[in-house]
Amino acid sequence: MSEYSKEQIVIIGSGPAAWTGAIYAARANLSPVVIEGVGSRTMIPGGQLMFTTEVENYPGFPDGVTGPKMMSDFRAQALRFDTRVLTEDVMSVNFSGFPLTLSTNTGRVVESGTIIIATGANAQWIGLENEQRLAQSGGGVSACAVCDGALPHFRDRIIAIVGGGDSAMEDALYMAKFAKQVVVIHRRDELRASKIMQERAFEEDKIRFEWNKVVKDVLGEEVISAILLRDMLTGEESELEVEGLFVAIGHTPNTEFLGGQVDLKPNGFIKTPTPWRTETSVPGVFAAGDVMDDYYKQAVTAAGTGCMAALEAERWLAHGGSK
Ligand SMILES: Cc1cc2nc3c(=O)[nH]c(=O)nc-3n(C[C@H](O)[C@H](O)[C@H](O)COP(=O)(O)OP(=O)(O)OC[C@H]3O[C@@H](n4cnc5c(N)ncnc54)[C@H](O)[C@@H]3O)c2cc1C
Repeated sequence: MSEYSKEQIVIIGSGPAAWTGAIYAARANLSPVVIEGVGSRTMIPGGQLMFTTEVENYPGFPDGVTGPKMMSDFRAQALRFDTRVLTEDVMSVNFSGFPLTLSTNTGRVVESGTIIIATGANAQWIGLENEQRLAQSGGGVSACAVCDGALPHFRDRIIAIVGGGDSAMEDALYMAKFAKQVVVIHRRDELRASKIMQERAFEEDKIRFEWNKVVKDVLGEEVISAILLRDMLTGEESELEVEGLFVAIGHTPNTEFLGGQVDLKPNGFIKTPTPWRTETSVPGVFAAGDVMDDYYKQAVTAAGTGCMAALEAERWLAHGGSK
């Protein structure tokens, strides 16, 4: 592709939403271009699943599959049809008129009749070296309890959840089904979670709270064995033996490159105003996957919305697009 091109459909991203959108768009003869991203310490082509080991809840894989294998298969399936890929980052967009325009980190300018934003979100981590090492090796540290909590490793064990919002309470309640005990580590002496979620967590016998504590380190060679806690009030440090750690301190959707040209929800996720539709505030621009989903945040729902976005984009073009 030259440094300038004019396309029918461009898909930004490379997780389950983007590749599913590409499969649908390619099979509808739209010859999509996927801009998959270059990669950084926190984001790599293939998306969040590149950072996980076993995926056991995606239908069609009775024996489970590793995240990287699943994403390389998604990509291969899209490439089997007429999908072109650019390993570049979208740096900025111009949605002030038609055609829709975007620019990448190489200086390339792409114009398109329609665009699907599927740039996902980044799970926030505490930011500790050992946390990242054990998360990437499958050593019992994760940022997604619903994804990894049911693995045999965590059953009947003591596990810790970091966070104090609704997500942390949901994760704690979810893990209480499998774990022997769930210890919620929270930096303050009261939760941010909604009243109802707090009540549910307080009522669950298996959940206990460590208030005013932060995690200073994650201990263990192959797998996690303990966490080092620091008391925010006294500065005192203590070790807590755990066999699992789930970090539930939020997600950051990847929307910075949009420069405020697409309406976002107050929490930063892309707004899709019509229920059961992926259209955004900009005509011809659709959003799919974790960048617009602050609720389910699963590979299968990302793929589902990727399909929806491609079908909507196809219909939008068929009905004349910008004309
Ligand atoms: C540790 C962990 C384990 C998980 N395990 C499971 C599991 O077992 N089962 C499950 O269903 N879900 C799991 N999830 C959730 C799942 O990974 C996400 O729901 C899913 O990956 C979201 O897909 P997505 O297509 O929206 O985008 P993402 O997977 O977030 O990928 C988006 C990608 O887009 C690209 N991108 C971003 N910005 C730009 C840009 N400006 N230009 C170009 N490209 C860009 C990047 O390469 C980025 O990685 C897990 C998540 C985590 C963090």
